[in-house]
Amino acid sequence: MSLTHDQKAEITAARERTATTRRPTAPALEAMLFNAIPVLDHGFIRVVDYMGDDSAVVQAARVSYGRGTRKTTEDEGLIRYLMRHWHSTPFEMCEIKYHVKLPIFVARQWIRHRTANVNEYSARYSIMDKDFYLPAPEHLATQSSDNRQGRGNVLPPETAAHVLQLLRDDAEQTYGHYEEMLEESGIGLARELARMNLTLNTYTQWYWKTDLHNLFHFLRLRADVHAQYEIRVYAEAMLETVAAWVPLSYAAFRDYRLGAVTFSAKMLAALQKMLAGQPVDQSTSGLSKREWAEMLAAVGR
Ligand SMILES: Cc1cc2nc3c(=O)[nH]c(=O)nc-3n(C[C@H](O)[C@H](O)[C@H](O)COP(=O)(O)OP(=O)(O)OC[C@H]3O[C@@H](n4cnc5c(N)ncnc54)[C@H](O)[C@@H]3O)c2cc1C
Repeated sequence: MSLTHDQKAEITAARERTATTRRPTAPALEAMLFNAIPVLDHGFIRVVDYMGDDSAVVQAARVSYGRGTRKTTEDEGLIRYLMRHWHSTPFEMCEIKYHVKLPIFVARQWIRHRTANVNEYSARYSIMDKDFYLPAPEHLATQSSDNRQGRGNVLPPETAAHVLQLLRDDAEQTYGHYEEMLEESGIGLARELARMNLTLNTYTQWYWKTDLHNLFHFLRLRADVHAQYEIRVYAEAMLETVAAWVPLSYAAFRDYRLGAVTFSAKMLAALQKMLAGQPVDQSTSGLSKREWAEMLAAVGR
């Protein structure tokens, strides 16, 4: 993670400032506030602000006047009920704002999540940092033969070293040309044009704000084992922050979304036959070979 001395000093100063408030706060998230959690080789994620906690979800669901006098177990039961039955609007009462440093190709996947507010570092106005993502050798793998969106075997060490050299050389060369084209070098090409030459592994930064419901949707897709490793590691770091922020909602999310499986009507019918000891196989189930394999994998067969 590459934070400059000045950036670290700003974070330290921000963490030293405190204020009293009547609003609910989450002590475990307060302890993490502003600190950067390292992700990939130069990236990070840090929480810069938030609103609400588990009690805000409960308060909205009950449309109550205050925190109420109910026990934590009752709140937990209500939150689990809301999550289980897709009663999602109470989760929209909580908001969180992240500062993220991420490679451009990861940002391109991330930005598809439209239900967030985003402000990205302006490469029209500022000069991009010379930070490129170079994967660790164990993350350099061949194209998967059975999944067009996945990776297969890890590259042999000498091939991985060659690939890393290509990635490094290309990024260095294009960044060198970027600098050469800018006004600082005398050519004076506008920053908004010079940036087009940068490689997709160049790091960008943004502030990203969303509500808990939409954050869960993002995490459900991006913390999934099928998500690309380079975005999944960001989602995993965000899960740590959510666990600290809203522990009851987080536990319900882990149970009913992240660790849950959806069966189609045909899958359910096939499983019911299996449980009843009736004969059923892929050809009689109405499921495709792939669906049948996915269903069996989900039930550990
Ligand atoms: C494993 C994986 C592979 C993917 N592969 C590809 C790919 O090959 N190509 C590609 O282009 N994308 C790909 N995507 C991106 C994917 O199609 C979605 O764009 C992305 O996951 C964001 O999901 P979302 O639209 O549900 O999220 P959000 O944009 O955050 O929206 C959340 C929800 O709000 C609602 N919503 C938001 N905007 C609208 C709208 N305009 N109209 C109606 N409802 C709306 C929908 O219910 C939506 O589910 C992939 C995503 C994943 C996780």
